[in-house]
Amino acid sequence: MSKKILKCPKCESTNVVPMAGFVTGYKYHCKDCNYRGVLILEVDLEEE
Ligand SMILES: [Zn+2]
Repeated sequence: MSKKILKCPKCESTNVVPMAGFVTGYKYHCKDCNYRGVLILEVDLEEE
């Protein structure tokens, strides 16, 4: 089973939460460096 995690493109933290409710779609917020934007890294976790 694989699982997707979100990573911040600035600080590579996984402490990223999606913010829904925008007309343009999703935006993401990094709680570590306070990055906000549509660009985010998606990483597949294949094994844990
Ligand atoms: Zn960040």
